[in-house]
Amino acid sequence: MATWTPSTIDGELGGSFRGELLLPTSPGYDAARRIWNGAVDRRPACIARCVGVADVSAAVGFAREHDLEIAVRGGGHNVAGTAVCDDGLVVDLSAMRAVWVDLAGRTAWVQGGALWGDVDRETQAHGLATTGGIIGHTGVAGLTLGGGLGFLVRKHGLAVDNLLATEVVTADGSLLRASADEHPDLFWALRGGGGNFGVVTSFRFALHPVGPTVLAGPVFWAADDTADVLCFYRDFAAEAPDELGSVVRLGTVPPLPDIPEHLHWRPAVSIACCYAGAVEAGEHAVRALRRFGTPIVDLLAPTPYADFQGGLDDTVPHGWHYYWKATSLPELSDDVITVIADHAFDAGSPLSYAAMFHLGGAVARVPREGTAYAGRDVAHHIVIDAVWLPDESGERAAPEAAWARRFLEALQPHRAGGVYVNFLDADDDSGRVREAYGDQYSRLAEVKARYDPDNVFHHNKNIQPREAGPAG
Ligand SMILES: Cc1cc2nc3c(=O)[nH]c(=O)nc-3n(C[C@H](O)[C@H](O)[C@H](O)COP(=O)(O)OP(=O)(O)OC[C@H]3O[C@@H](n4cnc5c(N)ncnc54)[C@H](O)[C@@H]3O)c2cc1C
Repeated sequence: MATWTPSTIDGELGGSFRGELLLPTSPGYDAARRIWNGAVDRRPACIARCVGVADVSAAVGFAREHDLEIAVRGGGHNVAGTAVCDDGLVVDLSAMRAVWVDLAGRTAWVQGGALWGDVDRETQAHGLATTGGIIGHTGVAGLTLGGGLGFLVRKHGLAVDNLLATEVVTADGSLLRASADEHPDLFWALRGGGGNFGVVTSFRFALHPVGPTVLAGPVFWAADDTADVLCFYRDFAAEAPDELGSVVRLGTVPPLPDIPEHLHWRPAVSIACCYAGAVEAGEHAVRALRRFGTPIVDLLAPTPYADFQGGLDDTVPHGWHYYWKATSLPELSDDVITVIADHAFDAGSPLSYAAMFHLGGAVARVPREGTAYAGRDVAHHIVIDAVWLPDESGERAAPEAAWARRFLEALQPHRAGGVYVNFLDADDDSGRVREAYGDQYSRLAEVKARYDPDNVFHHNKNIQPREAGPAG
């Protein structure tokens, strides 16, 4: 095994690399190693900021040759911080954010470092969209490779259900195209199996007409009304048309410009909806919701889809400290509603909250074995987000994390097992990767053994390789 020093990196990798190589002594190194979760503080030996596929291949090859740990950074948004590693090489795709829309074919090629805000902006220029996350600064790559939830899931499926092809640099540095026709086993695994199989340099998505104006926004009720609101929501969501996507948020009212100041930071439950169809039909679909109980503020209105998608970006900024716990829920039973109402507002920090994504519709119609994403029968994914400011770490970190763990523990007897892999945190969640995949895990382990037998890509929600048949 060749050894390395900063001058080896500059000399050997630098000779063929078009992007930027950031070493601990480089200006910009500290900014480049930072990710969304400010609690993650790792110092890689080198951050290889790639500008193309050849850079990615060279960086992977160099790291392998010199036995350097590899981390892959897409949007840098994973709470567990797997986009950066200590003492290794970060394959950083943050300079590869291009989006090309093929209007005639209604598809888009998206580079592996793009954010959902990039995709929404380019596709909405043509009145098109695909399912993406609910925060614009989340990365396309990590979100898609784990499944991909968003407001369009019920109508258009998960992000992976819209994936038509990918280009992947595998562990041996070669570039493969994976689609239904090329390396179908790899394509199956990439649709839910995370970053285990290589570095995806671009994704091709199917697009759909959406908006550009949609009926969308949140309705808020006081926290005391939570149990009643969730009982109502259980039936409302179960009967919702596929066009209606919704996410429940339990926390304090964020200080958004559209919300009267006297309501800011007040504990509240909100249901945000987006109707992926005609605004008038949307008005009909949300009528009962808006009339339920006594909302403290109702922001549901015809809104440009791209604006709605970016509307919550400032509520979860880069650099705050985050710790998550999550689980899938088969249904909102009375017991689950009681646990949620009892725990959601027990956090010490006004920044902490829980979010619950409604699924079903098109997600549930894809056969379970069709993709590696395992939660086809899940009705709701809940994620409990403990949040505090960097300078509050001393007093807040432990109690906020304990709140998230207590909340999950209380849900434990009422859940059927299963968790969305993209909501798993580090350390105490590392044992839950098998839970995320259930009986899909062994097939994923076989594909892993074909494409990454040495587990080069293990700085992730790791799937261990298991010997299997030849590549497809
Ligand atoms: C505020 C916030 C909101 C979120 N909202 C949603 C949501 O609405 N829907 C949803 O489904 N999820 C959501 N998530 C979870 C999100 O899906 C994950 O955090 C996801 O990992 C983010 O992807 P990324 O590329 O930004 O992450 P990164 O941290 O860059 O990457 C995470 C992992 O993905 C892999 N990876 C990244 N890029 C590549 C690549 N190009 N090729 C191969 N592997 C790669 C690597 O293993 C890496 O360690 C949200 C997360 C946050 C923090």
